[in-house]
Amino acid sequence: MKRNYDGCALCDATWGNYWREIEGENTFFCCNICADAYENMLKRVKKETGWDKIDYLEISGNYSAGRTCYATKGDERFDFFFRHEDGEITEFRKLTKD
Ligand SMILES: [Zn+2]
Repeated sequence: MKRNYDGCALCDATWGNYWREIEGENTFFCCNICADAYENMLKRVKKETGWDKIDYLEISGNYSAGRTCYATKGDERFDFFFRHEDGEITEFRKLTKD
């Protein structure tokens, strides 16, 4: 799975040293909370889309503002917004393109 961040897969922080296998890839996070949030968010995206995998995921935003993202699989695209609290998804909604 390709991503837009080089640092922590969720927040792009470059500090920390927490690794977890995500989608079969050893993935870097700053901490376990980001890893939990990321995993829960991916699960939710797959549930909403019915996709078995995600090719690309782009995230922007931050913890307090929430994160606006999109995922792609082949030529399909899913736009969404989410927030998390301690790694649990507290808000998730599909965004429709303008
Ligand atoms: Zn992070």
